[in-house]
Amino acid sequence: MDAKQRLQASLGVAMVVLVAVASLMTSAPAFAQVPAAPGIPASTPPLPASRVGDTTAIAKEAQGWLIDLIRINTTNPPGNEQLAAKYIAGVLEKEGISSELLELAPGRSALVARLQSSAVADPSRALLLVAHMDVVGVDKTKWTVDPFGGIVKDGYIWGRGAMDDKSMLAANLAAFIALKRSGAHLNRDVIFLATADEEEGGDASIKILINKYWQKFAAGFALNEGGEVFMKNGKVQYVAVQASEKVAMNVAVIARGPSGHASRPTKENPVVHLAAAVEKIGNYSAPVHFTTIVRRYFEQLATLQDDEIGKWMRSLDTADRGEHAQRVISEANPLWNSMLRDSIAPTMLSAGVRNNVIPGEARANLNIRLLPGNTIDVLVAELTKLVNDPQIRFEIQPDAGLAAPPSSLESDFYALICKLAAQEFGGVPVLPFQSTGATDSAQLRLRSVQSYGLEPFPMTDQDFSRMHGDDERLPVASFSKGVDFLAKIVAEFAATR
Ligand SMILES: [Zn+2]
Repeated sequence: MDAKQRLQASLGVAMVVLVAVASLMTSAPAFAQVPAAPGIPASTPPLPASRVGDTTAIAKEAQGWLIDLIRINTTNPPGNEQLAAKYIAGVLEKEGISSELLELAPGRSALVARLQSSAVADPSRALLLVAHMDVVGVDKTKWTVDPFGGIVKDGYIWGRGAMDDKSMLAANLAAFIALKRSGAHLNRDVIFLATADEEEGGDASIKILINKYWQKFAAGFALNEGGEVFMKNGKVQYVAVQASEKVAMNVAVIARGPSGHASRPTKENPVVHLAAAVEKIGNYSAPVHFTTIVRRYFEQLATLQDDEIGKWMRSLDTADRGEHAQRVISEANPLWNSMLRDSIAPTMLSAGVRNNVIPGEARANLNIRLLPGNTIDVLVAELTKLVNDPQIRFEIQPDAGLAAPPSSLESDFYALICKLAAQEFGGVPVLPFQSTGATDSAQLRLRSVQSYGLEPFPMTDQDFSRMHGDDERLPVASFSKGVDFLAKIVAEFAATR
């Protein structure tokens, strides 16, 4: 996923409660020294209705799979996900589970496997476990360990993909295999899917996979990356479940005017017009719009705040909710601001060919994240009015993301995740989350899949901040806890009629 978005979600809370980064940094080694890490509920009583039993052993096995997967370099590009897919096929084969490689491009395959509930499949009831095999690149010189060494030290599993997304891949595999081993009667099919090319979204991505092979993994429900089990001060605070996402777009701002000799400047210089336009756009805030998910997110988050921000969060849903509450929240946190409105970030500028030539054209790129349901034409019309310059025009780029309907917050599956999260983590709330970045779930939602983003591993801001960064790592204890949590969700839902 667009992992930056995830870490922003957690950063926000830290920002509000003003937890010093320094204290977090010192708490990380402490976490590592204590085998039963603080807050990773060694103390939590097991689920009374747990259908998977004790997951200690399979979590240990899954740690081995995770380490092996980290050692298979699937840096995208080029991806080479087929190597990881073949490895997973081998793990499944040992369990007597047959799987299929779905070819997408040379060296690039997805993998699908199924635990069948009955002779006649009912895709609308099936549960799909999704994780991607590819990882983003590394700057090896900035790492203190081999990013593809699969090293375990100081209580952490280190390596590219330790979080994004090979931990989810290994945990999905563990939940899937635990279910098979349990011999439980299934009331719905459970499908394991390892995808390719998530980080680049190119020729081997889920879009292509769905177009070519949808019938092989069609499902009514899915678990994917995109949420978080947020931990602070050694305690899980909440579980965020991604149920919707904003839509990425790019719009070019183009200024044109007469080119000429730089020794004779004119008022029509496109560089000057572009700069003025970008400044206006940079200071613009699109109107606030609450989706159901965002409203519920703030309602739940407010219960965890006891300061000024919590007060304003609670007032968001009251009659006197007004500009002030919106402003407080918008200014407190860039993530929250972006959850409330269409966001616009100028990201690239280009103009000029020579130091002494006034160019005929100057361009800027705006990276825009629309709220689901909003349209780009409305926003561009607004920007045109705002800029109010005949020398400027806007050009919507053809690489727009997908607007997908949100996953339901009323489904039995969502209710089950909420129930189990509370049981596993001492009554914590579940926050429905509308991510500002994009994941594979949009493609699934367009196929009417109720897809939920869950990252089952308890993590701090410190842990999250390494995603896509240097020295990516996951606490061993968090991985085990995540495997347990995920296996319970999967087993419970598989047994539900
Ligand atoms: Zn990812």
